[in-house]
Amino acid sequence: MPMDDIVQKMIDEEIRFAGIFDLVRTPLLCSDMVRQYCANNACGKYNKNWTCPPAVGEPEYCMNEVKRYSKVLVFRTEYKIGEWYDYSLVEGTIAKHQACVRKVREMIPKDVGDHLILSGGGCVYCKECAYVNNEKCRHPDISIPPIESYCIDIFRFTKKNNIVYGAPEGEMYYFGMVLFN
Ligand code: SF4
Repeated sequence: MPMDDIVQKMIDEEIRFAGIFDLVRTPLLCSDMVRQYCANNACGKYNKNWTCPPAVGEPEYCMNEVKRYSKVLVFRTEYKIGEWYDYSLVEGTIAKHQACVRKVREMIPKDVGDHLILSGGGCVYCKECAYVNNEKCRHPDISIPPIESYCIDIFRFTKKNNIVYGAPEGEMYYFGMVLFN
């Protein structure tokens, strides 16, 4: 099954946008600066999660991984969080988004071969990541690194490709991607 076929399957109640881009014509924009935003630790996961920096790998390693692929399937999930800003609701939407990214991973046809799947936000599968206690990841088959941990500037990529990035008030948008050849 070609990757284009899963795009149609993905357009369910959570995935509002999905598209495949040729990375030769529209490369993903990677920069060390993106990792600097991670280090600023607005999300609280820097140095606290196996899928986030520094555990995910050096920026150079991550950027070289991205360069190995010639196509990307980019998708966006959307969630309502109500009228009032409530961080517990936001956290719940990250967990929903990551569950959705795992569903997308199951849709990837076997004949696609080598690929890299990336999510929105550091992995929230466990209440507290095993990294904090210097233990191995409890579910390496489930954890998926965030887009930003691979130095990808998703904001600039969406802007360049006229993809809606920012959510209106009362909603949260997240992106996921599958890099492949
Ligand atoms: S599955 Fe658990 S231990 Fe593994 S990265 Fe996610 S939160 Fe951490």
